[in-house]
Amino acid sequence: RPDILWLRQDLRLSDHAALAEAAGGTMLPVYVLDDAAAGRWTLGGASRWWLHHSLSALSQALAERGAPLLLLKGNAETLIPALAQELDAGRIFASRLYSPWGRARDAAVNTALRRAGRELTLHDTGLLFGPDAVRTRQGRPYSIYTPFARAMLALGEVPQPGTAPERLRGATHPTGGLALEELTLLPPERQGPWASAFTDLWVPGEAGAQARLEGFLTEAAAGYSKGRDLPGQDGTSRLSPHLHWGEVSPRQVWDAVMRGGGHHGGHGVFLREILWREFSHHMLWHRPELPEFPLRAEFADFPYRPDAALLRSWQRGRTGYPIVDAGMRQLWKLGWMHNRVRMIAGSLLVKHLLQPWWDGAAWFWDTLVDADLANNSQNWQWIAGCGTDSAPYFRIFNPVLQGRKFDPTGDYVRRFVPELARLPDRWLHEPWEAPGTVLASAGIQLGRNYPEPLIRPAAGRAIALQALQSLRRPV
Ligand code: FAD
Repeated sequence: RPDILWLRQDLRLSDHAALAEAAGGTMLPVYVLDDAAAGRWTLGGASRWWLHHSLSALSQALAERGAPLLLLKGNAETLIPALAQELDAGRIFASRLYSPWGRARDAAVNTALRRAGRELTLHDTGLLFGPDAVRTRQGRPYSIYTPFARAMLALGEVPQPGTAPERLRGATHPTGGLALEELTLLPPERQGPWASAFTDLWVPGEAGAQARLEGFLTEAAAGYSKGRDLPGQDGTSRLSPHLHWGEVSPRQVWDAVMRGGGHHGGHGVFLREILWREFSHHMLWHRPELPEFPLRAEFADFPYRPDAALLRSWQRGRTGYPIVDAGMRQLWKLGWMHNRVRMIAGSLLVKHLLQPWWDGAAWFWDTLVDADLANNSQNWQWIAGCGTDSAPYFRIFNPVLQGRKFDPTGDYVRRFVPELARLPDRWLHEPWEAPGTVLASAGIQLGRNYPEPLIRPAAGRAIALQALQSLRRPV
């Protein structure tokens, strides 16, 4: 009797406990594209692009080892139990999902499997430890990052990652399932030029993830403490989409970084970011309302003023703030935005423009190749000041000062906002303050070929403070 390996966000062969267990016998690896189960959190456009290429790499790797991947499309809640029945399968293995919808679906699949005497066995390989590995002294989940991270580090050594099985014994399926193209992952409006630059930057799949990890360790890890804040440099790992899709496990990353430099310097700072990822998942697990509702109840009354035109200017990188526009255009072009700029762009949207954080989160969800329910929701709540780990007043970022500090030579802005390329550094982050002669000689006509700012920094800050002060309880 074959076992079933149900793959989801664990698209790799190494350090894969569910695969290792299934590899003991004959197994059928299956991926089900289930567009309905996630509701409004169904895959965005950039995620679909990534998944398409990642599945392509994975099916090749699995076929080479003797266990071709079965691709199905539809309701996994019925498809997985039906497949188990059809194959007269023994056990069904998967890696745990941490999203509310993923958990609900796994529970429903398990109920259906049990009716036929089977069971879904879940392994926790998407995190360093499980989502419930640490609790406060009072036995409650953590809501603040620093004590959470301390508790994680006190757990001791992160378990060593496992290797990939050399050979697999694959089971066959009578119909062979769908071809990858038939999954029609990309919606029609996203086919063609939109993702053309993605292929220059990204190599989805396990081999691409390992290459990215090695490249980061040799080139950027030691200087990460400073480099990570400079969007004009390649100072971060860009592992986020690989981690999201489980093409590399956090244990593999942790192990490689510890071998490369341990807890010290840039390596140590980087490991703390991996713990932020762990923290987001801990939060999502214990506060499943995280993607939808503010964790601080008083923020239900935050005086947002939804405005489709403002939102669209922000989405298209036409806010008039060069650092924000560069970020939003980087996002559209490459499916990724530097973390520092995500914070600046998020703050402008929510605090200065009073647009709901969930609209920003939804845009990121559609356009980021690393769109991740835990990380995206947790960070948007953090930026909006409504998360549990918050200091809302400190997080009214001044986009001019941030631009000057973190893109002092303007490399980043000039790369993504080419119409400002000839503006001298002094005015680059606030073109509206530049004398007319300077603008003219740089070929800039504000309001014509580059926008005036949607709101000036001082006015934006005043609006944000007023909005925060209007909340019922002091924050
Ligand atoms: P590195 O700096 O190399 O960090 C290594 C890894 O640590 C990342 O790959 C990521 O897995 C994790 N990490 C780093 N920063 C954070 C953080 N602040 N929170 C949680 N984990 C972190 N990250 C996503 O993976 N998906 C998202 O959808 C997402 N949405 C975000 C939305 C906003 C408004 C903000 C401010 C941040 C968001 N982040 C998100 C977090 C962070 O910006 C990205 O993880 C990071 O930029 C990815 O680039 P990197 O892999 O080079 O990061």
